Amino acid sequence: MSKRNIVIEPDPILRKKSQAIEEANDDLRKLLDDMLETMYDAPGIGLAAVQIGILKRIIVIDISKDKEKKDPLFLINPEITFKSKNTSVYEEGCLSLPGHFAEIERPAECHLNYIDYYGKQKSLQAKGILATCIQHEVDHLDGVLFIDYLSKLKKDMIIKKLKKHKKELNQIVL
Ligand code: ZN
Repeated sequence: MSKRNIVIEPDPILRKKSQAIEEANDDLRKLLDDMLETMYDAPGIGLAAVQIGILKRIIVIDISKDKEKKDPLFLINPEITFKSKNTSVYEEGCLSLPGHFAEIERPAECHLNYIDYYGKQKSLQAKGILATCIQHEVDHLDGVLFIDYLSKLKKDMIIKKLKKHKKELNQIVL
């Protein structure tokens, strides 16, 4: 496994739509392993491939709080088939928007069809933090970020700060 670099907003790739996977093979599993390592290292509870610059419809998630008991979930070609009418609000962050958080309202429950790590067709019903995490990550596959749910003013302010932050990261003093 090897750690990859995380793409930080603003970056045009984060706005692109990711492509479906045709075959769950060893190369794909290696990429999923790298994504998981990158997510654990960050640390975060979810990561979409686009966040390491790869436009493929794959996601890794691990919402287990216990570091000793890892419980990774690999989602290939995830498709949300149901969203509940009742909603919940969580304060969301994103590895591509470091340091920024906002309360986002989303459907409290969702159902999902996906292909697992071994290429098997699966489905799951999610609620609570997992439901929010899945919706946040699936949004990434369609070029959507959580700041898109905020007012234009708030969103522009966050992007401006991130732009400044990125510029500082690239500065070197010799
Ligand atoms: Zn994110």
